[in-house]
Amino acid sequence: MLRGSPSLVKGARLRIWSLRGSWVQIPPPAYRIVKLILLIHNYTAMRHRIIVTPPGQKALKVIEAMRSRCYDSTFTYPLVVKDGEGCYIEDVDGNIYLDFTSCIGSCPLGYKHKDVTEVLREYSSIGAHKIAGQDFYCEEHALLAERVLAVAPREFKAFFINSGAEAVENAIKLAYKAMGALPGVSCINAFHGRTLGALTFTFSKPVQKNNFPELPVKRIRFCTREDDEDIDAIEYLLKENKVAFIITEIVQGEGGYNIASKRFIRKLRECSERYNVPLIIDEVQSGIARTGRWWAFEHYDIKPDIICAAKALQVGATLYHKRFDPNQQGVLSSTWGGGHRIDMAVGAKIIEVIARDRLMDNAYAMGRLLLHGLMDIMKESKDSIIDVRGLGLMIGVEFASKELRDRFLIQAFKNGLLLLPAGIKAVRVIPPLIINKEEVYEGLEIIHSTINKLV
Ligand code: PLP
Repeated sequence: MLRGSPSLVKGARLRIWSLRGSWVQIPPPAYRIVKLILLIHNYTAMRHRIIVTPPGQKALKVIEAMRSRCYDSTFTYPLVVKDGEGCYIEDVDGNIYLDFTSCIGSCPLGYKHKDVTEVLREYSSIGAHKIAGQDFYCEEHALLAERVLAVAPREFKAFFINSGAEAVENAIKLAYKAMGALPGVSCINAFHGRTLGALTFTFSKPVQKNNFPELPVKRIRFCTREDDEDIDAIEYLLKENKVAFIITEIVQGEGGYNIASKRFIRKLRECSERYNVPLIIDEVQSGIARTGRWWAFEHYDIKPDIICAAKALQVGATLYHKRFDPNQQGVLSSTWGGGHRIDMAVGAKIIEVIARDRLMDNAYAMGRLLLHGLMDIMKESKDSIIDVRGLGLMIGVEFASKELRDRFLIQAFKNGLLLLPAGIKAVRVIPPLIINKEEVYEGLEIIHSTINKLV
């Protein structure tokens, strides 16, 4: 069977995606018939559905209530979530959107996944669903540790906490504990969370930083090109300064979906080893199969000393080589850390399902399909898209301007596709790891037609 997107028609030629895995041109007159078949196929396969221009009446009510009582945080468009299934989210007015956000990677199995639903059903009658998890033991804590450490480097241990920022807080605390209260090194455009310790090492947007005090810090550029002269900057820095740690993402998320150069990450590893400085890799967004490997650092053939995880894991986790264990009770703790038994059971199930259903392979294959489709769209975008880059299902689309990117996001939402911004003028494309070809084409189709109408 042939699959394709009828709107990717160029003049009298139609391009379709063949089972052999490449775009092929269909010459006229056959293209009219193929186009009709594809239209019918895509219509029946498409599942996003906008029945009320969002925000509808019910959505407006919730938004007004929230705006009057809650801090207006990082909302991009007026989506009021009611339900979800597979790669789709339904709003309170009955609109159905294709979700290319996975809630910033925190719903890797999409919604209403049968294995996750089973866990939730199992726990629905449990009394002590949330306990003081660093004071009392529970099976879910032990199970999640077993599952996540099975995919971590050898001789690692785990500390569970609530959020990604707290995973970073505890990573830097472990490093300070071992090295003393020295400056930490982080990258320009990095995002490591918004709690005050982690925020020092975040450097992606002024709005996140202005007026907030900082811990001692040294910053280096995040190098994305193999020939970047600044790759060696870490060497000079470590030669002249004593530091407590180096922290970096492999793919900068909030900073704009920038992918580190291989030489840059290897240089950080090499120098941190030479100068005996712990290397912390923040995998809060990129970890747990998002890039087609369990961890993005696996693409770089390095092993960090400390890893930060969260989002897809459902809870925050600081994973560390056992030589960074404080070996003293009470250095790290938190009431809920390791205590949300349902989240931990779901996190453990997510790791099991990703391995069982080979979702890393799917992330790799669907990531390539999306990347190529987006590159095709870029070529036709009359320079409104200036770059497309990605690793697995972590793809960034860079627009020519912030104004264009913002208009695009809102229009795509109105057309039934959920996307979120990254950096100053990029869009992040991070669908659930379960996404299939039809859904990739459906998303590409919406992106293509939205761009066409925008420029
Ligand atoms: N680190 C990275 C790389 C992130 O992408 C994020 C969140 O987007 C965080 C840390 C902070 O995580 P949280 O929002 O759960 O505190």
